[in-house]
Amino acid sequence: MPYDPLSDDQREIRELVRSLARERIAPRAAEIDKSAKFPWDMVELLREHELFGLPYEERFGGTGTGALMVLVAVEEMSKVCATTGLILAVQELGSLGLKLAGSEEQKQRYLPRLASGEWLAAYALTEPGSGSDSAAMRTEARREGDVYVLNGSKRFITNAGVASLYTVFAKTDTSDKHGGISAFVVESDTPGFEVGRIEPKMGIKGSTTGEIFFDDCRVPAENLLGEEGEGFRIAMRILDRSRPGIGAQGLGLAQGATDYALDYAKSRETMGRPIAQHQLIAGMLADMETKCEAARGLLYKVGLMIDEDAPDEDLTKISAMAKLFCTDVAMEVTSDAVQVLGGYGYIQEYPVERMMRDAKITQIYEGTNQIQRLVIAREMLRENRSFLLSGVA
Ligand SMILES: Cc1cc2nc3c(=O)[nH]c(=O)nc-3n(C[C@H](O)[C@H](O)[C@H](O)COP(=O)(O)OP(=O)(O)OC[C@H]3O[C@@H](n4cnc5c(N)ncnc54)[C@H](O)[C@@H]3O)c2cc1C
Repeated sequence: MPYDPLSDDQREIRELVRSLARERIAPRAAEIDKSAKFPWDMVELLREHELFGLPYEERFGGTGTGALMVLVAVEEMSKVCATTGLILAVQELGSLGLKLAGSEEQKQRYLPRLASGEWLAAYALTEPGSGSDSAAMRTEARREGDVYVLNGSKRFITNAGVASLYTVFAKTDTSDKHGGISAFVVESDTPGFEVGRIEPKMGIKGSTTGEIFFDDCRVPAENLLGEEGEGFRIAMRILDRSRPGIGAQGLGLAQGATDYALDYAKSRETMGRPIAQHQLIAGMLADMETKCEAARGLLYKVGLMIDEDAPDEDLTKISAMAKLFCTDVAMEVTSDAVQVLGGYGYIQEYPVERMMRDAKITQIYEGTNQIQRLVIAREMLRENRSFLLSGVA
């Protein structure tokens, strides 16, 4: 039995998501990948079953079932289609700014439309010249009376062109690297906001990844999140809570690939027996399953910590660890699944080929896995860990 700290209510929701994944999402996954078109039918499916409500409190029209439940839902969907799992993960990513730093009025105005799925959300931090070094951003926001005038551009924005609400980071003080950044909510129909090129990609092909431009884009001052200069801190607090969502996408891919490889290995025969009975294949399957279970333990731990309102300083390291571990496992395990299927794993008729391509991005976005390692090491160095050596010398 996989690790399962869910309540009875949460298990019921997981059952619903599992059956939707099996019956409605899995049959669409190959076509979504092939067409590389944003799957509005999957958005409709999530709307119909009120799954967009998972990241939100009941008073905003959500289910109030907490962060762990969101992770489990993303995992279940990503077992069969990582593009669909990402739709829910990015709905949370794009609205965490409002949840963490929004005023009551801002929350009332926007969260119900996100909880119903009427609006999709996006998170716009990365720019052509600033990815890992996000504070090097150049987009500016200049205050003019009761508006901020935004100029600049963002690149690689998930949900570009399909989102109605963007959480955007821009410099209100260009002389200050981290402290000069502010966060805004920008509606997609704001004059001066434009979507540019949508990138063709290796995987998660149904998800849009694109450029957005701000050309004298006049955003109401009331759309500032928190105070001027708090943007970098808000961006990092968001990532502490959203990176596990990418971990969940990775874990879903890894478990989906393991399950598929296991089934295949039971029926494919060589040298007179199912390949699952050859010890080298059995050993691979055992390693794949073990990595998934270890990843799940770490991931669900973060989900529980978020639900228990763990302080930021406790979340940063474990959240980075969960993202790092789950997504490295995703890449290793999906690659092993291709190997278990032999030549069939490499052709597009079998889903593990897609899963391996989809897995790669999980090691890159929401902070590359090199950056996660830097974050974890930085947090370790901050801790008082020298006692082992204190008696020596
Ligand atoms: C499909 C897709 C979807 C995305 N969605 C979003 C989104 O919705 N919103 C958003 O804001 N961004 C998004 N991104 C951007 C993504 O988060 C960045 O691409 C990522 O953070 C890396 O930035 P970069 O591409 O500029 O790489 P760089 O920062 O140029 O890094 C290049 C390489 O150097 C390594 N590196 C950089 N600095 C260091 C260092 N100090 N030490 C060690 N190694 C280092 C990196 O790990 C990487 O391997 C998306 C990207 C893609 C491809």
